[in-house]
Amino acid sequence: MLDVRNLEVELDVDNGVVRALDALTLSIARGETFALVGESGCGKSMTALALMRLLPENGLVTGGELHLRGETGREDVDVLGLPEAGMRRVRGGRIGMIFQEPGTSLNPVMTVGRQVVEAIEAHTPLRGEAARERAIEWLTRVGIPEPARRFDDYPFRMSGGQKQRVMIALALAAEPDFLVADEPTTALDVTIQAQILELLKSLQAERGMGLLLITHDLAVVSGMAHRVALMYAGQIVEVAPAGEFFAAPKHPYAQALLRALPTAEARERPLMAIAGTVPPLTQRFGGCRFAPRCAVAMPHCAGTIPSLEAVSEHHAVRCLLYRPGEAAAADSVRIETPAPSAPRTGAEAPMLLQVQDLSVRFPLQRGWLARGPREFNAVSDVSFELRAGQTLALVGESGCGKTTTGKALVQLLRGTARTGGRALLHPPAGQGGEARDLFTLQGEALRAARREVQIVFQDPFASLDPRMGVREILDEGLAALRPELDTAARRARLERLVDQVGLRRDALDRYPHEFSGGQRQRIAIARALAVEPRLIVCDEPTSALDVSVQAQILNLLRELQRELGVSYLFITHNIGVVEVMADHVVVMQGGRVVEQGAAEALLSAPAQAYTTQLLEAVPRLVRAAPGPAAVV
Ligand code: SF4
Repeated sequence: MLDVRNLEVELDVDNGVVRALDALTLSIARGETFALVGESGCGKSMTALALMRLLPENGLVTGGELHLRGETGREDVDVLGLPEAGMRRVRGGRIGMIFQEPGTSLNPVMTVGRQVVEAIEAHTPLRGEAARERAIEWLTRVGIPEPARRFDDYPFRMSGGQKQRVMIALALAAEPDFLVADEPTTALDVTIQAQILELLKSLQAERGMGLLLITHDLAVVSGMAHRVALMYAGQIVEVAPAGEFFAAPKHPYAQALLRALPTAEARERPLMAIAGTVPPLTQRFGGCRFAPRCAVAMPHCAGTIPSLEAVSEHHAVRCLLYRPGEAAAADSVRIETPAPSAPRTGAEAPMLLQVQDLSVRFPLQRGWLARGPREFNAVSDVSFELRAGQTLALVGESGCGKTTTGKALVQLLRGTARTGGRALLHPPAGQGGEARDLFTLQGEALRAARREVQIVFQDPFASLDPRMGVREILDEGLAALRPELDTAARRARLERLVDQVGLRRDALDRYPHEFSGGQRQRIAIARALAVEPRLIVCDEPTSALDVSVQAQILNLLRELQRELGVSYLFITHNIGVVEVMADHVVVMQGGRVVEQGAAEALLSAPAQAYTTQLLEAVPRLVRAAPGPAAVV
């Protein structure tokens, strides 16, 4: 259905030319799901944009061919040779696309229903009331509650997840032959994600739609895709049927990536992280692009360019180990499993924090004639305990109150919400004294408590001030919360901090924009550690990061916990991360605790139906079973 041959894409940037795609070749059959996976910056999204001829202004297709085959009785299309007017009919009609960022993809001044009707009228024979009815049907199928009423809502009235579902309805309503889905469920909760993935699967079965699925979520891929292509630095480095890829990946990058995933087996040993980052694509490569990060690189890898070699009928790998004649070397590829870590702190660890009947209420903006409650209860009757040196994971879908709970504990809601209940912070073991209630502290006592409870946010790009150097960022908290330290002591502390989080000392003299996402999150962790807290609230600290970088950050947090005895309140929707990190789990729904208990027991045998439903919705990596057969 889609045939791409040797596609080359270049982007003009300030410091040269980025060769974003290099000789990309792939074909996707009718009814097939073909997944493109890899880290950020490897060329996945650029592939999607090139297929839709939606490259940014500085981008250009410099070579290759791209054909849409007329398998559904429609004519063959040479996509690269088509004039823009013709391309507009193909886009949306023959090839639909679900973008990553629903917020910027919907028209903000048109109701969502009208947008779906427009797509239907542009690409199907339906008009007027029939088109409206079909639009409501699509809104229902993608799980928009009360679709007839929400039809007249503008995008700004919808949550991120709902906007994403509207985007999906919009793409599917035109009944395309082929769908390009770029991270279609990344912004969604697991239960909605499961529902959307099921919908995509059933539509494929019903309509024989081809699907190019672009995602960093390997578990989603293992459950959805017939074939997988792994990209690295603008090239496909391995392409295989999904079952073969997940059961026995060949490329050292594929092997490392799969072992970097957080799973229950990694509870007692460090995750396998891949050192370094994807190389800039402005350079010309004289050898294997993965060589600087490859655990099994050979001396000639840096000076020989590998080509894609077939290792079986449908499986090809771009690695010198698989060149004819080097098969013996390929058989011996073994990437060492990291040694087990020191055991975790036991249940007898001293008490650190007791949260009792926490409630958080936000005032509602209302007209003076309005009736009904004047406050919104974001969190009600939440109680849990956290011991020193342990990790408590708060899990649940968006809007369940987990982030509000974390923010209340870090005193970020003072002045904007009313908190009730108590949050007792116990003194360190052996120091004696009374537990302090974080919600009643004032003045100096509040300042001291702020030092003890810090936070690391989700987005390392938004949480660091771009105008401040790293030294200033780290020093800011120290100066405010540790005023007794003199300049020399502060300087020594900053140097130790960058060492602790695995950055080079010269990082102190640089600015946040000079760092990758993972490095920025290390800076954010260093900022939290600067004042020697006893508790760090980690609010989805790895959800914006690639799998291999996530592994580095989770390893770092666990090392710091063992070294410093710090406790974490870990807010996450990623159950794999919970399995690796948590000693104790609290499941929340609608602002209340549904269930809590020791992590291993709760995750293996949940007592509540909601927890079971949440865990069942989480996509799991299927390694051994072969993927579903492709309809080729
Ligand atoms: Fe590693 Fe060499 Fe293969 Fe590249 S060619 S992936 S460096 S073994």
